Amino acid sequence: MTADGVGPATEPSDAWLAERFLALWDGLAAIGHLPSGATERLPWTAEDRAARDWFADTATARGLTVETDRNGNLWAWWPGPGDAAIATGSHLDTVPGGGAWDGALGVVSGFLAIDLLRATGVAPTRPIVVVAWTEEEGARFGVATLGSRLATGVVDAASMRERVDAAGVTFASAVAALGIDPDAMGSDPGRLARLHAFVELHVEQGRALQPLGRALATGTGIDPHGRWRVVLEGSGDHAGTARLEDRHDPMLVLAALIKAARRAAARHGGVATVGRVIVQPNGSNVVPGQVLAWLDARALEEDTVRAIVATTRRSVERAGRSEGVRVTITEESWTPAIRFDPGLRARIEAILHDAGMPSVAVSTAAGHDAGVLDAHLPTAMLFVRNPTGISHAPAEGASIEDALIGVRALAAVLADLAAGP
Ligand SMILES: [Zn+2]
Repeated sequence: MTADGVGPATEPSDAWLAERFLALWDGLAAIGHLPSGATERLPWTAEDRAARDWFADTATARGLTVETDRNGNLWAWWPGPGDAAIATGSHLDTVPGGGAWDGALGVVSGFLAIDLLRATGVAPTRPIVVVAWTEEEGARFGVATLGSRLATGVVDAASMRERVDAAGVTFASAVAALGIDPDAMGSDPGRLARLHAFVELHVEQGRALQPLGRALATGTGIDPHGRWRVVLEGSGDHAGTARLEDRHDPMLVLAALIKAARRAAARHGGVATVGRVIVQPNGSNVVPGQVLAWLDARALEEDTVRAIVATTRRSVERAGRSEGVRVTITEESWTPAIRFDPGLRARIEAILHDAGMPSVAVSTAAGHDAGVLDAHLPTAMLFVRNPTGISHAPAEGASIEDALIGVRALAAVLADLAAGP
């Protein structure tokens, strides 16, 4: 095998691929790696900047053309003679205290799939592009899959600019610090028109594959889900001198919210989570004046999600009335049920079957950029087995063997899609 990746038209060995995988993986995984074992790369931070540099260096080392678009999404192009490209990739940001694999695996696999195609002498007739969508997790400014939502116009850029993070930093100043012009952000139809299809490879979030003894799944779609912002306004007071009967304590209403969400999810058949809370002023000897909380609800059907939130809302409002705490619940994001392009999925399943890497079909309750893009171009997802099923935590992961199967599967899919109509 030659160093420039143009080698004999034989299938590179697992050792060849593993060496390349680990070289790329270790470079990215070191960015935002915490002593606790968690990985933390919040958007528009020093870690985000380092991950962006890693992307640019990785692309440049392969002779790919790197671009940052108006919304801060990163693109690495392998040009081909055709117009519309086959895109693959995922995201580089994480949740706070997250794992190393969510998002990262899709971007690393995209670059390695290109290495593999070049090594086997594949000359695509369409361009292939690796993309890293920006701020996929929405962990800092509250809107998940932000990069693809801005590009598709689902989120209005003007509505983002004045949003603040937990430290009071505005979105506009955060993106400007990384060299993105906040006033230039917004829908990007010309760029989307350059894409023929998008295939996102992702580590499995859940544990469907392990019991089946399979390494790969194709995604059928994304279950409906949403995020609601809950503001509980009471009155701040002294933890010693304020009599119980005089208090308006929003923490009691928060407790009601957390329990009501769990009860409603169990009753209606979905899941609901209160995973983020901001207590003000957050003092150990203070009855808090205000609590902010976020409710995340998901289910197989949209009506079920709505029912979970409506039932929770009634309980919380009742608790608020009894404690003299004002309750405001607003929808912060909503993702309807998404069914990926059935024709593209059938084609991918056939490609994988022919390549000796059969897949099973799963739907996912996690949001992805592929779900946002589905309304604009054919999209598909590939999932790589996660033995623990854990996600958004350090225990998420895949074996190297399975990761390499994922790269080979992605390469087979890209080769086929980029070869013809
Ligand atoms: Zn992800």
